[in-house]
Amino acid sequence: MVQSPAHTTTSTTPPGRGHRPAGRVAGIGPTIFATVTAEAVRTGAANLGQGFPDDDGPAEMLRIAADAILGGDNQYGPGPGVAQLREAVARDRRNRWGQQVTADDVLVTVGATEAIAASVLGLVDEGQSVVTLEPTYDAYTAAVGLAGATVRPVRLRLSTTGTTGTTGTGSTGVRRWSLDREAFAAAVAGPGTAAVLLNTPHNPTGTVLGRGDLEFIADCVRGTDIVVISDEVYERLTFDGEHIPFATLDGMADRTVTISSAAKSFNVTGWKTGWAIAVPELLGPVTAAKQFLTYVGVTPLQPAVAWALDNADAWSRDWARTLRSRRGRLTTALRDAGMEVLGSDGTYYVITDISPLGLTGADGNPMSAEEFCRRLPAAVGVAGIPVSAFVNDRAAADPSDPVHTLVRWTFCKNDETLDLAAVRLRSGVKVHLAGGE
Ligand code: PMP
Ligand code: GLN
Repeated sequence: MVQSPAHTTTSTTPPGRGHRPAGRVAGIGPTIFATVTAEAVRTGAANLGQGFPDDDGPAEMLRIAADAILGGDNQYGPGPGVAQLREAVARDRRNRWGQQVTADDVLVTVGATEAIAASVLGLVDEGQSVVTLEPTYDAYTAAVGLAGATVRPVRLRLSTTGTTGTTGTGSTGVRRWSLDREAFAAAVAGPGTAAVLLNTPHNPTGTVLGRGDLEFIADCVRGTDIVVISDEVYERLTFDGEHIPFATLDGMADRTVTISSAAKSFNVTGWKTGWAIAVPELLGPVTAAKQFLTYVGVTPLQPAVAWALDNADAWSRDWARTLRSRRGRLTTALRDAGMEVLGSDGTYYVITDISPLGLTGADGNPMSAEEFCRRLPAAVGVAGIPVSAFVNDRAAADPSDPVHTLVRWTFCKNDETLDLAAVRLRSGVKVHLAGGE
């Protein structure tokens, strides 16, 4: 399971009244996001950890949802989702991305998280493998594990010259992530590959895969029966370069499940309203799994999200502009605090390397990002997420792995939170974290 060692329950003592957890969840503690947010709340830290915005989404969307609840739209909706939302999702994909889909290709889910789990459960058999890009969003590894399958992570390459194939601005001298094509092709060609789980714009690195890389990925799966699950929840949050939906590539629509959600598009992470889009042959198995996970999505929120998809493009563009400028402000604050900031072209996140701070950890070795993030909320009043939480257990435990000193920060918070974080970071991270725990 993808968790930093400090957040992993290692005890073998049965919990509670002697009940043992099922093997598939044994050792799984709270997610890194929940853990860091709880610590930020406890210490009053500026929470640049978990990716949820302080700002609300479009006011009219909120009003429509409130009216739906007060108006009595509160019972189970149709299995595949409310028609209005399925039609709006299809229209939105056609209008913004030229993706040729209809409402019949859309399944409404309880957030993108359920769409990911249902896609894996519906399309991947026990014992098969799923190729992911590493760092890997934690829900992918978890969903694949719950399905009794195995992730085969392909590490993104981190280098100053890694702009090939990505569409980012690639300012010189900035380290950034890029697809390691050779490693990716080898992983896909490995035994028992059932699916590739793609994510662009990518959490946690902010990498936006360019057309060259996406075409390469398409070439790797063409002629096989491998399915591509394409998580595009940050589709509206590309600041440099261009988001290209994988399903729009030649021949890929028939083998792709596209996943997105209202959470990051319209600032409603608490609404847990998402969708999966695929041809009926793929969507059928996904629906079969989804119906026994939650049965249906949340009824009264669906017309509101439909309204946003049809009417909130201008709001979305404004929000993306705001986020882009917040990315700049946070980048400056992190650099001023003495860290190296890696290139990020989209999402809510930037990653820093803490090595330039020259901190020493409790064990006398250079401080790990895991220890840094554990101590930062109480010591400095800011919270971030160690990137080691997004890699396989062996890499997370290896001090020589480059992710060992990387921290993810979110810039989706409001100006007040970002300013507070900037003041605290500038006040001397090094001073506050020097010395033991
Ligand atoms: N995929 C990625 C890459 C994410 O960062 C998130 C968090 N928004 C999700 C899926 C989950 O989205 P939701 O809240 O709609 O379940
Ligand atoms: N997607 C958000 C993040 O990466 C929230 C994840 C979560 O809390 N499950 O921070």
